[in-house]
Amino acid sequence: MESNVPSESQVVEREKSTDSMYGSSPVFNDERLTTIRQEMEYLNTMGKRFVAAFDRFQVHRALLAALRDLYSFSACCIFLKGDPLELFIIPSYPLSASFLEMMIQRIVSAANVIDFPHIEAEQLASSAYLDAPDELALPHMQEGWGGGEIGSSLHIPLTVENRIMGMLSLFDERRDTFNTNLLQLTTMIADYAAVALENVRLRERENALWRQTEFERQRLELIIGSMAEGLLITDAHGAITSLNQSAQHLLAQANINFQTDVPLHQLISTSAADWLPRLAEIVDQALKNKLVTNQELTIGESDETVPITLNISAAPLHDASGIAKRPIGVVAVLNDVTSIKQVERLKDDFVSVVSHELRTPLTAIKGYTQHLVRRMERRLRKAHATPENSALVNEAPESYDLRSLNIVQSQTEHLERLVNDLLDLSQVQWGKLNLHYETFYLADVLAESVHSAQASAELHTIYLDIQAQSTAIMADRMRVAQVIGNILDNAIKYSPHGGKVTVCLEKRDKEYMVSIIDEGIGVSAEQFDHIFERFYRVHNTAIQQYSGIGLGLYVAKAIINGHGGQIWFTNNQSNGSTFHFTLPLRPPTVPLA
Ligand code: ADP
Repeated sequence: MESNVPSESQVVEREKSTDSMYGSSPVFNDERLTTIRQEMEYLNTMGKRFVAAFDRFQVHRALLAALRDLYSFSACCIFLKGDPLELFIIPSYPLSASFLEMMIQRIVSAANVIDFPHIEAEQLASSAYLDAPDELALPHMQEGWGGGEIGSSLHIPLTVENRIMGMLSLFDERRDTFNTNLLQLTTMIADYAAVALENVRLRERENALWRQTEFERQRLELIIGSMAEGLLITDAHGAITSLNQSAQHLLAQANINFQTDVPLHQLISTSAADWLPRLAEIVDQALKNKLVTNQELTIGESDETVPITLNISAAPLHDASGIAKRPIGVVAVLNDVTSIKQVERLKDDFVSVVSHELRTPLTAIKGYTQHLVRRMERRLRKAHATPENSALVNEAPESYDLRSLNIVQSQTEHLERLVNDLLDLSQVQWGKLNLHYETFYLADVLAESVHSAQASAELHTIYLDIQAQSTAIMADRMRVAQVIGNILDNAIKYSPHGGKVTVCLEKRDKEYMVSIIDEGIGVSAEQFDHIFERFYRVHNTAIQQYSGIGLGLYVAKAIINGHGGQIWFTNNQSNGSTFHFTLPLRPPTVPLA
């Protein structure tokens, strides 16, 4: 120990004299002041060493330096509680294996006396590290060094805020090395070391956590970066905060400079991209806590016959704590479905070409059947027009051949409608349904449609209830007739036991409403949301017994929407269903035909 360090007895002595001084007259003589200054300098130097220690090995060095001021010893050991246990052995010179073993035995005994969970020497030996200073890394152990017995040892608990975190043990080969007078000071050093070690431990834990978080962050970044789907993330104001590589690639094709931190709504005003408002709307919906799924967005031209099409789903992002009710942003997944659209297009084109090819022979069959029907009617009328039975001349002649021909004719018309629906499919699908506007009376078209439907419906009685017919409308007459024909066909088809079908026409403000009421099977709950989808019946086995391909209503909806009208249905209270559609008197904007 250096001379300027006070001994325990000196400290005790000094405390007594200080007390008496404070008690009577607080007189500090020069010698007393020098001692206090020395003490403070010592504690200060020691404290600084510990504070400066950044890792546990620097703490060990600081501890060693402080202890060497007090004693000279063979080894200092730091045993720390925790899972796993840790034991650091800092020898002052190379120690023999047996000396190390003995130290471990002593530490186990002392630890079991202090507040430690029971440990075995083997367990402790397996957690031991030798923290030997560099100068000890000698190639051979010097003769006689560290080979003796343990002459004296000292064990002091390492405590932080009254919690025992470990134990400091000092060993020496000589006897009586550890002077009890220095015990208080040694405990103070141990306390400093305990706090420094605890800090190091906290820092290590913090670093480990940070490293783990950073690892997770990088992993996530890698996953998101290598995703085939585009990922777009916005903040709570709808401004894009990040785009993964795929999203950047997808949106780059749209030639838009997506500045981060600028809400999509603001970008709309400066961009010519007509799909941007739709994207902003999707993000807005998700910011209102709604899940948006499978929205298609056409974002630009491509080399293929179809434009670049994205399928977008968006969901609100909530902060992990879940305290804030409002989303903190939106995460949207972008899928490039251009190639799927391309295949769809090929399929639709194929259907369109085939339907077109079918229409030519069909027209011929229809024409010749009509011709044959008329001829047969004439021939049969003549055959029955005998002078004695002239009243029968105008009656429809009954004949098996004529009935057969009538069936051929009505089936041909049905086939023609199917082929027309298929032809329309491609036009509707690709937005090329051209409407040819003309002025006509809706009541006339309804009457014609009812007349032709009644001709092929033997079990049904079709009523026409015209409540208003004064105003002519401007619409595509053929297309409107097609819609009415489709709905009437369904009304007959889906009421297999016959019954009443009523067609009503009402005028409402600036539009007409047509309602077609049947007494059939009605629309079941699971069909409710789907019957206007194309080919819906393909997935619906319950109606497989009725012929059809599930296109009529899909095309009807496109035609009515194209006119600026609406189409919907309701199930009747008793039985059957009612299909309604509206048609504005004038189209919203009359396109040049
Ligand atoms: P299709 O009749 O060829 O299946 P539609 O597009 O005309 O195709 O109709 C779609 C679906 O709507 C039908 O499959 C049927 O399930 C249902 N549907 C249409 N009209 C009626 C109706 N009047 N009564 C009951 N179900 C109907």
